[in-house]
Amino acid sequence: MVVIGLGRFGGSLAVELVRRGSEVLALDNRPHLVQQFSDAVTHAAVADTTDPEALRQLDVADFRRAVVAIGDDLEASILTTSLLSDFEIPHIWAKAVNRQHGRILERVGAHRVVLPEHDMGERVAHLVTGRMLDYIQFEDDYAIVKTRAPGAAVERPLGETRVRSKYGVTVVGIKRPGEGFTYATQDTVLHHGDILIVSGRSHDVEKFADLT
Ligand code: ADP
Repeated sequence: MVVIGLGRFGGSLAVELVRRGSEVLALDNRPHLVQQFSDAVTHAAVADTTDPEALRQLDVADFRRAVVAIGDDLEASILTTSLLSDFEIPHIWAKAVNRQHGRILERVGAHRVVLPEHDMGERVAHLVTGRMLDYIQFEDDYAIVKTRAPGAAVERPLGETRVRSKYGVTVVGIKRPGEGFTYATQDTVLHHGDILIVSGRSHDVEKFADLT
């Protein structure tokens, strides 16, 4: 795996990949960053990744996966992505600062584009306005959330409270104070203070989380 750009996003990505057992070649044109990450990744090198010769010398074309984690410098992000595409790297991921940037990255060859700041902004919007503790949305209208057990669903087995037919949500997991998460069944009885993982359509899980 090649990670290009060792800013906040690329840096944490590279370290986490190594922690999960991947071999990572990390590149940045700022020597102090390369120095900083040299012990944390498999191999780190100073390179201007808009220069095809620099990429060739580092055998970047031999990798199957690459992540372009350059954000603010649009020119460098686009040029780097298009070079990786010229090298026919099978899985190119690229970080975009906005949707327009993302569309350009797709046109020049990125297979997957991520918009971390945009996505996080949306996610936090869901959290600050409601009682949810965490929120992940899939596609346009399906979500999994972490929330406190609402009063309307406590002290009776889940089968009896019929959360699925009544609220359209499924309680997937439950965590009691001081314990770890475990799966929920029809017989699970929720108590005040329990933390739940709930899935369903975004609108339904938000309504369920807002019950008092
Ligand atoms: P973040 O918001 O994740 O911190 P930045 O856009 O600030 O992202 O950081 C991107 C990183 O990419 C920086 O460390 C920068 O030095 C690096 N970078 C920018 N242009 C190039 C380039 N042409 N070649 C290699 N690395 C680059």
